[in-house]
Amino acid sequence: MAERILEIRNLKKYYGKGESQVKALDGVSFDVYKGEMLVLLGNSGCGKSTLLNIIGGMDSPTEGEVLLNGEDITKYKDKELTRYRKEKIGFIFQFYNLLPDLTALENVRMSLLKKDEGHLSEKALEAVGLGANKGKQYPSQMSGGEQQRVSIARALVKGADIILCDEPTGALDDKTGRKILELLQEIVREKGQTLLIVTHTTPIADMANRVITLRNGKIEKERVNEHPLEAKDIVW
Ligand code: ADP
Ligand code: MG
Repeated sequence: MAERILEIRNLKKYYGKGESQVKALDGVSFDVYKGEMLVLLGNSGCGKSTLLNIIGGMDSPTEGEVLLNGEDITKYKDKELTRYRKEKIGFIFQFYNLLPDLTALENVRMSLLKKDEGHLSEKALEAVGLGANKGKQYPSQMSGGEQQRVSIARALVKGADIILCDEPTGALDDKTGRKILELLQEIVREKGQTLLIVTHTTPIADMANRVITLRNGKIEKERVNEHPLEAKDIVW
């Protein structure tokens, strides 16, 4: 049995009170195993981003626990939480979230906590298919697909325990999106990284090891893909 890396226990996030209260998450529990690609699937508004932001330490739950390697991050104070975000989590956003005034290379390097000895940032960019020349460019000079590659390199370079992806192909055309998925699949296979992807694009789930479907803040169903599809064969 694979090693459990993350445990989500009865997670709730409520907004507002009384009649207008929104239950963005309403008692969600699941585990994530080391080296798996887990897709969380669900329609817009079902609570995907809320869930990912809580796991990423960017938002706090109303109730419930998030244990990374057995430690409950919802109990963390600000300082511990900042450290957790920097050290333990790689986050890939729908709209890349690169800093516009930094080059691609600087964007990646920024996420490193220590001095970049051994050219880790260059290597991370190379690993996502961006050579030295691209590293000198600014985000505004790059295509959406290239910017997402930079954002993946930024998430990878620090050797985070788990990579969280919020609709990583949502802002890309189909062909570019598929290239990004191929890259993510390769990273799971070659580096043994743990990847949690949330998406509303159903076919993407076919490349995952496991799929959890969310609906109105609750888990509706869960399935294991015995034979995940190759990312390049996914059509949507
Ligand atoms: P998804 O990412 O699946 O589209 P979200 O997690 O963004 O869904 O949102 C889940 C629900 O919570 C939605 O109904 C949304 O309107 C609501 N919601 C999200 N953030 C807030 C907020 N800051 N204040 C109030 N309601 C929110
Ligand atoms: Mg969302």
